[in-house]
Amino acid sequence: MTVVCAWCQRQGLRTVLREKEPLDWPVVSHGICEEHAKAFLAEVREGKTAGLPLDRRGS
Ligand SMILES: [Zn+2]
Repeated sequence: MTVVCAWCQRQGLRTVLREKEPLDWPVVSHGICEEHAKAFLAEVREGKTAGLPLDRRGS
């Protein structure tokens, strides 16, 4: 199976991170490439990442 970067895929790119056994299995799994991992971590540190319940108020 092939592991591709989900962030790259969202941008229409296809960055293959690695091939995992079984190699002839036509399944795509998702990971994150080094470049997007850095960008993602930077966003998390700045609290900019949408989708994380960081500013849930009133509970
Ligand atoms: Zn990527």
